[in-house]
Parts: sequence; C-alpha cells; structure tokens
Amino acid sequence: MPTDIEIAQSVSLRPIGEIAAHLGLEDDEWEPYGRTKAKVTLEALQRRLTQPRIGRLIYVTAITATAAGEGKTCTAIGLTQGLGKVGRQATVCLREPSLGPTFGIKGGAAGGGYAQVVPMEEINLHFTGDIHAVGTAHNLLAAVIDNHLSKGNALRIDPNRVVWRRVMDMNDRELRQVVVGLGGPANGVVRETGFDITVASEVMAILCLADSITDLKERLGRMLVAYTYEGEPVYARDLGVHGAMAALLRDAFRPNLVQTLEGQPAFVHGGPFANIAHGNNSILATELALRLSELVVTEGGFGADLGAEKFFDIVHGYTGLTPDVVVLVASVRALHMHGGVSKREVEQANPEALLAGMPNLIRHIENVQRFGLPVVVAINRFPTDAPEELELIRTRCAEMGVPVALSDVVARGGEGGVELAAAVLDALDQRPADFRPLYHWNLPITEKLDRLATQIYGADGVELSPAAQKQVREAERNGWGQLPLCVAKTQHSLSDDPDLKGAPTGWKLRVREIRPSLGAGFLVCLAGDVMTMPGLPTHPAAERVDIDASGRITGLF
Ligand code: ADP
Ligand code: MG
Repeated sequence: MPTDIEIAQSVSLRPIGEIAAHLGLEDDEWEPYGRTKAKVTLEALQRRLTQPRIGRLIYVTAITATAAGEGKTCTAIGLTQGLGKVGRQATVCLREPSLGPTFGIKGGAAGGGYAQVVPMEEINLHFTGDIHAVGTAHNLLAAVIDNHLSKGNALRIDPNRVVWRRVMDMNDRELRQVVVGLGGPANGVVRETGFDITVASEVMAILCLADSITDLKERLGRMLVAYTYEGEPVYARDLGVHGAMAALLRDAFRPNLVQTLEGQPAFVHGGPFANIAHGNNSILATELALRLSELVVTEGGFGADLGAEKFFDIVHGYTGLTPDVVVLVASVRALHMHGGVSKREVEQANPEALLAGMPNLIRHIENVQRFGLPVVVAINRFPTDAPEELELIRTRCAEMGVPVALSDVVARGGEGGVELAAAVLDALDQRPADFRPLYHWNLPITEKLDRLATQIYGADGVELSPAAQKQVREAERNGWGQLPLCVAKTQHSLSDDPDLKGAPTGWKLRVREIRPSLGAGFLVCLAGDVMTMPGLPTHPAAERVDIDASGRITGLF
C-alpha cells in the first residue's frame, strides 16, 4: 500500500470554493487561504450561530490505545466518507495537528491511508498559522509578566509564584525546566520557569471554548498567572494585555475549512491536549457544522475516559452540545496489549490475550452508556488482524447488545466505512440518546473527583496529596469550586499508572495538584506524572521528512 503522503498527493483536490458552496456557505461567509483551504468569516459565525442546529452529532472516541494511536482520526474521517458513499451529507470536525507529534513518535494527525483530510502536508505543517498565533499570544503575556517584575513590580507578584510559563510547538525536553533572567539586572529578574508545548496552553483551550470575540477576550483576562507576596491571585487582565492577545488570535479564532480525500467538508480547528486541557476541537467549528450539515462527525483526544468525558462534562456544560451517538474505536492490537502482550508482539494473533484484554473495551462501553448515550463499536481493521479475532470482538459486543461494525477505512476509504456508516445511521434511528452528565458542577470538588475516579476510571477512591488538599480549600475559598474538573492523567491506562492495562481495580486515584484554568473554565487535577512538554524519541519522525527540488514534501505520515 502507498504511504499516507503518496495517497494524499495522488488525489486531485477540489477548489475550496466548491466545498464551501456545497456546504451552503455564501460567498461572503468564507475567505480563501490558497486554493484548497479557507477560513470562515466572523460575520458568518455571528449570523449562523443564532440559527438552530439542524445536524446530528456523531462523537468518535476510543478504548485505551497503544502508543501508536488506535485510529480515531482515521475512523472519524473514514466514517464521514462512508456516510458520503451511502448518499448522506456529512461534515467532519477535527483538531489541528501539533508539530510535536508530527516530528516526534506518532506522526501527523490528518488521518491515514485512504481516510485523510487534505492538503495533508499543509494541515500537518503550518496550516493557516493558528498554532503560531496561540503561541505568540501566550508568550506575549509571559514577556509582559517578566517585564512587570523588572519594571518595579507594582502588582507585588512573587517571582517564585508565577504560574504562567512559556510555550513552543515542538517536542523539546531541554526546555521543561529553565532559569530566565540570567546576566545581571539589565536582563530582568532571575527565576525558574519552563516551557510547555503550545497545544497545552490555556490559550488553546480558550480558543476552543469561546463562542465570540467578546467571550474570548474575557476568558483571556480571567486566566490566573501568578500570586502576590501576600498570596493573592493575579489575573491576566491585571497586566492589561488580554486585548492584545485577543487581537493576535482574531484569525486563529475563525474555523478552517478543508476537505476529505473524497470531497466532504472538514473543519480542522483548534487542538487542545486531552490531559491538561479538554482535548476537543473548537466549539465554533462544531456549532457551525451543526448549522450546515445533516450529520457532523467529531473526535476527542485519547480514550473515552479523557477526551470524551471532557466533552460530556465540560464542553456540554458550556454549550449544551450533546452527541446523538458515540462511536468507540477498538483494535485487535490494543486489546492484545490489554491482555498482557508486550509491545513487540501485539500484531501476532493471540485470541486468549484478546479475550483477556476485553475488559478495557467493556469498561469504556459502560462508561459511555453511563452518560445515557448509545454506543457503536468500530473495529478498526489493521492489515495484520486475524479474521477469527475480529469475529471474537463482534461476538462479545453482540452478547452485550452493543452494535458493532468493521471499519476498513484506512485500506479502502469511504467504501471501507459503509458498514460503520450503516450501523451509525441505524443507531441514530433506533437508539435515542438520554444524555446526562456525570456530575453537577456545583458539587464539592472532592465529590466530583470521587465520581470520576470511581465511576469512570474504576478506582476505589481518591487520594489527595497534602498540597492538593490545600489547593482544594484555596479554590473553594476563592470561589472556583463550582468549575468542572479536567483530570490530567496518563492516556495509557484507565488508571493513573501507565503500566496498568485492561480495566484495573483495587487502586486509588492519586491527585497531587489542582491547577485552576480560570479562563478555560475548569480546574485541572493532576494525577500521576503528566507531560506538558513531550520529548523526542531516539529517531524522531522528522528524520524521515524531506523536500525535493520541486518543493514536493515526502516522509510525512
Ligand atoms: P488516533 O486519532 O486515535 O490517535 P489515528 O487515526 O491518528 O489515531 O491513527 C494513528 C496512526 O495509526 C496513524 O498513523 C494511522 O495512519 C495509523 N492507522 C490507523 N488505523 C490504521 C489501520 N486500520 N491500518 C493501518 N494503519 C492505521
Ligand atoms: Mg487523533
């Protein structure tokens, strides 16, 4: 089979104006960014978002994945193409790829094989510059904070309690912990700080949750950036540059329109991490798609315990957005891993391990059902999968009364997504959603944490470190206790320990820190070690990327 980039380059793209017109966007509602990308105008957003939603929302999530990813993005795109094959009008909404994974281990995030969004090189590299804008807005605030410290510090900010770090869109472990201001008083105040990857920035989360420029600016102003010597919170608005930050974000705030390999519209917009942030594309893109399209497919980051839970408890709370059906992606190799097989052997047939790994799938199914949502399992077929093993997954799902479909979209594009499309359409017809979030926001913080730990992750309870206990009291005292929670834990396990596979029981969720993201509007609860600045592997994917004399890029996947 040709590589992802070879497939992407072999297809001739439709002019983006055709895609926009097909979606029903008027000429003044979008602006071309080259021939094959466009941004929606602010006027279009204002006009459209006051109209009622007409689309049904299909939410793609997954079981706990292997490090390579189990195919949510491919499935979301392939399902959209499959819906197109059966004559339905569907739009896919995805997050924008970060350069960290593109040049690191995982590769790009524009799908794979015959289920991709294009132009894939541009989407995976700089695209329309949104991530740069987020990084620039974030770093403007960082520069202004340090400037404030060195110009008299009228706000009495404690240099040891500046919580606002710097960001860069690159995996660079050297920058996790740095000392700034070296070289004497002319170079500012010496203090320890560090860098996160841009998609971990609260600014990115805000970009994806704000519903207007006014809301964007207010949220930016509300961000907590430091504490004073007296321990009082300092907010971004105290430094007076949240307006400038919003100005930098004006164009990044407008959803990007591209297309699938088979010509369906795709909004690729915003890309917050699914641990430290809520892991879902911009609400603007999804809300807009729901005004334009009969069916809207979207995807959340990591497993259903992370991105999906955050959609149901955070995004829903801010927007009222509710999926009509959830597609849970599973793969044979991930189930092997949950059944105890080592990384090197997950591709070999092993029905015993597959069955032993099934509790992970079952737990995720039950979790989605707990939210009152119908679930369809999509078995993402890899070339190495043994047919008997695919059949075993089917049988187990059938026993649970859960619809299941084989998805072969990476190998066959929309044609390989027809079975899944039919199962999803059937569920939309036959299985009405009765959505309820897991918790009410006004419950005490510890009660909300306990619900997440016991009902979603399968823990016996929660253990708060002494520091976290103090932060819970502080948050409640400051009036932040009624915010929803955003748990930052490993994506490699349902638990907080990446080595525990399957559906671990007999453990407690260890929360070591509570970090208020007041602009985004949630409290980040850090459980275990969470990476906000990833590192590169021995051989980064970047070593394979190249460009020839004609400007053709190779080696992206
Ligand atoms: P996720 O969104 O769940 O992280 P992706 O859809 O991005 O996962 O897929 C992760 C990687 O695995 C991509 O490089 C993709 O091309 C590859 N992949 C996914 N599904 C298949 C498949 N069925 N066959 C071969 N490769 C696949
Ligand atoms: Mg993905």
